[in-house]
Amino acid sequence: MIVEAVELFHVRLPLVFPFETSFGREDDKDCLLVRVEAGGRAGWGEVSTMPAPLYNEETNATAWHVLADFLIPALLGKDVRPGDLPDRFRAIRRHHMAKAGLEAALWDLQAQEQGTSLARALGGTRDRIEVGVSLGIEPALGELLDRVDRFLPQGYRRVKLKIKPGWDVEVVRAVRRHFGDIGLQVDANSAYTLADAPVFRAMDDEGLLMIEQPLAEDDIVDHAQLQAQLKTPICLDESIVTPDDARKALDLGSCRVINVKQARLGGVTNAVRVHDLCQRRGVPVWCGGMLETGVGRALNLALASLPNFSLPADLSASDRYFEQDIIDPPVSLGPDGTIAVPDGVGLGFRVLEDRIGRVTLRHARFKATRGRPAGSARPGKTAARRRPEPEGGRAPGATRRPGEPGRRPPG
Ligand SMILES: [Mg+2]
Repeated sequence: MIVEAVELFHVRLPLVFPFETSFGREDDKDCLLVRVEAGGRAGWGEVSTMPAPLYNEETNATAWHVLADFLIPALLGKDVRPGDLPDRFRAIRRHHMAKAGLEAALWDLQAQEQGTSLARALGGTRDRIEVGVSLGIEPALGELLDRVDRFLPQGYRRVKLKIKPGWDVEVVRAVRRHFGDIGLQVDANSAYTLADAPVFRAMDDEGLLMIEQPLAEDDIVDHAQLQAQLKTPICLDESIVTPDDARKALDLGSCRVINVKQARLGGVTNAVRVHDLCQRRGVPVWCGGMLETGVGRALNLALASLPNFSLPADLSASDRYFEQDIIDPPVSLGPDGTIAVPDGVGLGFRVLEDRIGRVTLRHARFKATRGRPAGSARPGKTAARRRPEPEGGRAPGATRRPGEPGRRPPG
């Protein structure tokens, strides 16, 4: 497909509940969306960056810069396939979430071109995904127990608790005591060191499904030492940013489960490579989340339909996070704790462009330059022509409503 134009949107949607992890608190979903035009169609992708470099080194600002000045110019006017992007972007180091957002829009387009669902285009085999709910750190234990009590009856197959030093063993024990034999796992988002091994040994008899990313985000050596001390599987998230990282971690015994987030891995192509590697090695994977909007959530549903995604996904219903999502219909949870994989063409949801316009803080459009032979745009050159942004950074046609995030200053 020839990439004719690309649009970037910096959007901010209020979260129904603030979400706190060991690295910080989020009150809004604040990220970028990518819209790519090719062959008379439009495909959508989400860039899972945040305002601050807390999950990884990227931010919304770095992703905007890398997309606008390097990645998008490298594709405009070119005949590309999403599976080519890891090779095509190899010279541009890291910036995985920026790359993943662009690749996601091309996957949506490719599935549309093939007249099939994104899940089928990726080789998915499931039509429903077992899902769990991820619960942030609460001000007090009672509030967390109330939160678990609220979500379990909705059918979620397991509960994941975010932990940090001082909010760990006692919290796990309390949830186990109150709720019995539920599927339970924890995620530390790298908040501990190997010196904290006793904390994890103290959890080892609580029947956890896994302990996710206890140690540093750039480590697989200490994780191997910790895993050797535990019965509970360690799951790596932040530490696995390439398919080769996954191979090395499995070779070292650093984990027994991998959380596959296509955004962290630079896109769906690499995510499928990690899935396939783990399948060959008999290692289960599951689909992690970044509190995605509906656009990213739809992609995750398609990815999680691949056969080795055999543990419940961090894929909640839209109303877990947003009063109004940016896709229609919103993602909904079945009473059996599963979510249907959409079978419509492409993402399988209608992307609500009006709604996106109302939550857009900044917008830009880049078009292939007429008269320039395809293939002449190089990263770093201004092959892209930016349409002047509308005043206030609003998307064209957007109207602002009282209380909409667009009224607040960015930051
Ligand atoms: Mg995690």
